[in-house]
Amino acid sequence: MPNVGMRQIFLANDIIFREGEEGNCAYIIEEGRIQISVRRDGEEVIITSLGIGEIFGEMSIIDGQARSATAMALEPCKLSVVTKEQLTKRLHESDSIVKLLISILLTRIRSNNKNQIQLSHNYLSQDPLVSQQEAIDKIRFESELFQALRNNEFVLYYQPIMDLRYRTLVGFEALIRWNSPTRGFVRPDLFMPTVEETSLCTPVGQWIQAQATKDLSKMIQNANGDLAQKLFLSVNISGREFENADFVNYLESVRSKNNISSKQIKLEITERIFMQGPITEDNMNKCRELGYQISLDDFGTGYSSLSYLSKFNVDNLKIDRSFVMKITKEAKSKAIAQAIISISRALNLSVIAEGIETESENLHLVALGCEFGQGYLFGKPMPLDAALEFIRKFNISKAA
Ligand code: C2E
Ligand code: CA
Ligand code: CA
Repeated sequence: MPNVGMRQIFLANDIIFREGEEGNCAYIIEEGRIQISVRRDGEEVIITSLGIGEIFGEMSIIDGQARSATAMALEPCKLSVVTKEQLTKRLHESDSIVKLLISILLTRIRSNNKNQIQLSHNYLSQDPLVSQQEAIDKIRFESELFQALRNNEFVLYYQPIMDLRYRTLVGFEALIRWNSPTRGFVRPDLFMPTVEETSLCTPVGQWIQAQATKDLSKMIQNANGDLAQKLFLSVNISGREFENADFVNYLESVRSKNNISSKQIKLEITERIFMQGPITEDNMNKCRELGYQISLDDFGTGYSSLSYLSKFNVDNLKIDRSFVMKITKEAKSKAIAQAIISISRALNLSVIAEGIETESENLHLVALGCEFGQGYLFGKPMPLDAALEFIRKFNISKAA
């Protein structure tokens, strides 16, 4: 069975699939050219040849019928496999009218094939509403990310979170990075949106949880007395991860495996998840009952509705960097930061300010009564080893 992200090599004249065979995957051409042909009246009729960046073989995996043509490599070819799951998941999630249109189109294309032969992928490119290239790029990017997960190319970086008044370390936030051999170091905002909207969401989310809890146990081992007891790790959880009924079980399994108290783990979520269904709410309540803290990220930037704060129980608010960066220059931003701090006091929540870069921003936040913060002023996100060093330095300076 082909896997997501798998590459296949074919030599010139190799048959990739034959007309009439059952189809379980499609292909994107990474290198080389292929030829599509059908048998008519006992003769091979060439329909077309396709080159780099084009997709073929998708019809069978959409409608489950046999291959309507034969594909052969014209020269040595490297093909990315697109699995049935990659396409069918999207189709199942798509609008019912879109599904209907696709099925009508496929039936027409298949019957046309028998008479006046038409290319299977034409139905996409002829539709001005669908950018074929965009869709192919997305599937290809998803495949690349699957390979990244399999090849262990993701890493977690850790940014220190400080007590602003005493300048002491209180915890870290885990931030994912993709160390790609071809693209270099990739920032999460460039790939996490794709991860979150595809079948990668659960496996990548679980990888993050497993790695973060493993690393937190090392951090605790490197901390002294009081810090070891209190040091926490904030882990970003995407809304879709929280929709998974198995979320809590998995988190509990990696937490207990690494012998960590749930009190030392904060789950960072955004307001978006409040608009999700009952499983999300269930998972959130279960996590809190088990002792995990819930931290509301990017507070005040999104769909912000204060009613969420009364409906859902959270433990911490994060003041977004967009307010912190203007806090010294713009009265409005300062007022918003102040309001967030007041709300959190009234509701008995803690506050973490994000993106503190200067002493002056720090002073302003302290004056407003903000307890905790993170930012380049204290430390950029760093690899685990550097975070452990950060903790140890902290132990020494505290003891001295
Ligand atoms: P976020 O959760 O709001 O993370 C804070 C971002 O601010 C991080 O960007 C961090 O590196 C950056 N930052 C912190 N201090 C400063 C500062 O002083 N100045 C500036 N200019 N930036 C600062 P990063 O690491 O690029 O992450 C971007 C976003 O990607 C995150 O925003 C989060 O939404 C998402 N993300 C990162 N890691 C994960 C993860 O493990 N899981 C999920 N679901 N999302 C993640
Ligand atoms: Ca965050
Ligand atoms: Ca944030």
